[in-house]
Amino acid sequence: MAKLIESLINKHLIELKPYESARRLFSGGRDWLNANESPYVNDYNHDDSTLNRYPDCQPEPLIKGYANYANVAPENVLATRGADEGIELLIRTFCTPSKDSVLICPPTYGMYAISAETCNVDVISVPLTADYSLDVTGICAQQNVSLVFICAPNNPTGTMVDKQAVREILNHYAQTALVVLDEAYIEFANDASWVQELQQFENLVVLRTLSKAFALAGLRCGFTLASADIIQALLKVIAPYPVPQPVADIACQALNDKGLKRVKQQVTELNSLRQALTVEIEKREPLTVIGEANANFVLFRCTHKDELMAYLVADGVLIRDYSKKPGLENCLRATVGSPEQQARLLNLIDQFYTDRSAS
Ligand SMILES: *Cc1c(COP(=O)(O)O)cnc(C)c1O
Repeated sequence: MAKLIESLINKHLIELKPYESARRLFSGGRDWLNANESPYVNDYNHDDSTLNRYPDCQPEPLIKGYANYANVAPENVLATRGADEGIELLIRTFCTPSKDSVLICPPTYGMYAISAETCNVDVISVPLTADYSLDVTGICAQQNVSLVFICAPNNPTGTMVDKQAVREILNHYAQTALVVLDEAYIEFANDASWVQELQQFENLVVLRTLSKAFALAGLRCGFTLASADIIQALLKVIAPYPVPQPVADIACQALNDKGLKRVKQQVTELNSLRQALTVEIEKREPLTVIGEANANFVLFRCTHKDELMAYLVADGVLIRDYSKKPGLENCLRATVGSPEQQARLLNLIDQFYTDRSAS
C-alpha cells in the first residue's frame, strides 16, 4: 500500500478483507448458482420524467406498499439499499465502536461480521449447535452485546430457528440489546415470519429484501421492520436519498397485486425445484445434503471438493464454497436455478465422479 494511505487508513481496517461476494469471486460463468439469486427475469416499466429531482428519503408509495405486504404499519418500515444497508445502519446506530459488540451465530451470513468490523465494533461468535440450532445458553451468557443477529431461514444451512429459543433470547436481552431476525429468505419458508411479534417485543427487528424471492437483486432494495422508535433512530443515520426513484418505482410494481401474485407463483415453482434438486443430490453417493431446505439453495457435503469446484467452474457452473466455515468442511452451496441449470449442474457432477473413478 502507498505510504500515505498506509498511514491514513483507519487502523482497524488494515487486516480487514472485503466480503467475498459471488460477483467478486467469479466474473465469467453461465450458470450463476452462487448468490441465491432468482432465475426469473420479470418486466417493469420505467418513467424518466422526475430524474432531475432528488427522490424522497423514504418514498411513501414504497413504504406503504411494503407495509401492506408485510402486514405492519408504515411507521414500522424503513427502506434501504438492500438488507445489507439495514445491517450496517443498525450497527452504526446502536453500537459504540471499541465498546459494544454484535453477536452472531456461525455458520451464518457473512455481512454481519464484516459490517461490524468496518465500524470497529467487536463480534462475539456463539456457534450454532451440531444440529444447527441456536445455543440459547451461550447466546444469553454474553456481555456488552448491543445487537444479536439471527438469520432465519439461515444462510447457508437453510435451517429455521426454534420459536421458543428466539423468545428466550428476546426476553433475556429485552433491556439491553436488539435482536435482529434476518428474513431474507422468508418467502420460501411458509408462515415462519417474526413480523407479527413486533408488537410484543420492543427489541425485535426484522430484515427483509427484494433480492431473493422477488428476483430483484440488481435493484438493491431491502427493508427494516421495527418499532417506530427504532425506525426513527435509524433515520438519523441513513443517507439523505438512499432509495433512487427508479428503484422505488420498480419496487412498487413488484409489490402491487400483480407483482405479489407472480412472486407467490415463482416461489412455489422454486420450492418444487429445490425439492427436486435435494432428491437428486441425496441420490448421489459422494454427496450428502446438509442442514435443511427452507430457502432457495441446497447445502451439501462432497468428496474431492476442490477438484469438483474447479470442474464446475471450468464449465461455467458457479456454486459457492462454504468449506472454510465452522462445521461445514467440504460443503458447497448451490442456488436453486432453472430446470436447465440444475440439469447441467447434476450432469457435470456425475461426469466428474465418473471420470475420477475411471482414471
Ligand atoms: C442475500 C442476503 C442478504 C442481503 O440482501 P440484499 O438486500 O441484497 O442486501 C441479507 N441477509 C441474508 C441472510 C442474505 O442471504
